[in-house]
Amino acid sequence: MVDVAIVGLGPAGSMLAKLLRPGLSVVALDKKGLDDEKTGFRKPCGGLLAPDAQKALSRLNLTLPKSVLVDPQIFAVKTIDLQTGLLRYYQRFYINLDRHQFDLWLESLIPQAVRVERNALCTRISRVEGGYELLYRQNGAERRLLAKVVVGADGACSLVRKSLFPARRIRQYLAIQQHFCEEHPTPFYSCVFDGRITDSYSWSISKDGNFILGGAFPMDGARQRFEELKKGLASRGFLFGEPLKTEACLVSVPRGLGGLCLGSADAFLLGEAAGFVSPSSLEGISYALSSAIALADSLNKGAAKGIKKASRLYARKCLPIQIKLLLKGLKALGTRSRFLRGLAMRSGLKSIRLLEPEDERA
Ligand SMILES: Cc1cc2nc3c(=O)[nH]c(=O)nc-3n(C[C@H](O)[C@H](O)[C@H](O)COP(=O)(O)OP(=O)(O)OC[C@H]3O[C@@H](n4cnc5c(N)ncnc54)[C@H](O)[C@@H]3O)c2cc1C
Repeated sequence: MVDVAIVGLGPAGSMLAKLLRPGLSVVALDKKGLDDEKTGFRKPCGGLLAPDAQKALSRLNLTLPKSVLVDPQIFAVKTIDLQTGLLRYYQRFYINLDRHQFDLWLESLIPQAVRVERNALCTRISRVEGGYELLYRQNGAERRLLAKVVVGADGACSLVRKSLFPARRIRQYLAIQQHFCEEHPTPFYSCVFDGRITDSYSWSISKDGNFILGGAFPMDGARQRFEELKKGLASRGFLFGEPLKTEACLVSVPRGLGGLCLGSADAFLLGEAAGFVSPSSLEGISYALSSAIALADSLNKGAAKGIKKASRLYARKCLPIQIKLLLKGLKALGTRSRFLRGLAMRSGLKSIRLLEPEDERA
């Protein structure tokens, strides 16, 4: 029986695996494989690294390698309200990344002492005497693992959460992203609101010659809503050729603190599995990293004093994350309200006036 089993090696799981102290025996499973670069699972993501995520990396004295960056880096977001026709630019400090390369880089930081099982799809988790039993499928074989502590870092569709905390449900939307050849004269990043299509929001981003359009939609008629969005944006000068790729996945959109779940005494959730995603921007990498830092610190300290102590410590360390998410929830109420959004955009507060006229047919 190992001390800790981590399910999922996205930003949350990889960072936790990196930070757990060497005295603990740790196994980390992920359904992604390194050998299936083209066909394997890739997390659909905008791949924008927000300032809070940059701060979390800087706390660990980590610097980003060039190999995870994409072209171009963009300094402003073009914000469009399709209902009112308003358009504004706001300064942003995101780093434009290749999300898959970012995940692989984080994985490469995991120390050798951690046993990493790739191509390992966890299929069942159940409580047994003294810990948990995990069943996983790897290269066609069924395998079994016993662990004193289980950690769910397995994202929005978390099996750990569903298996061990089935009553703790969270509101989820369907995120759809479509990739096109970039045809706009100047690459840009946009943020689009239209309450008729979704009460969340949509976005676009240029990345290495690709133009990616995405959005988060209520499950009901999500695909149709996406096509409506495309139509609305095409009439505002957005250029869409033939789609090169379409991807979709669930995204958690917490409402208040209700959907958040940190786990219990010896089963922990972090990152998106815990519901740590901004309800206003859907930014989640910063929360994945901060919750991993919080859990690693709690387990490293707590293991010596008993696992109950670790879970109390983790709950305390996650308080700032929860407060930040509550504030983001309030911001989301503002951006979702057509009236308040219109007021903010009309005021021009904090917006940037372009000196170079824009090539837009709107
Ligand atoms: C379309 C979209 C765009 C987004 N854009 C941004 C953005 O630009 N910036 C930002 O900060 N956030 C963005 N987010 C949110 C961000 O992607 C997530 O919050 C973040 O990835 C959460 O990290 P995580 O490690 O908790 O989970 P994930 O990154 O989802 O990682 C979960 C890992 O668990 C593995 N896994 C899952 N189930 C199993 C299983 N049963 N067995 C084994 N392995 C399993 C998966 O392979 C994966 O590697 C976006 C989300 C979506 C959906």
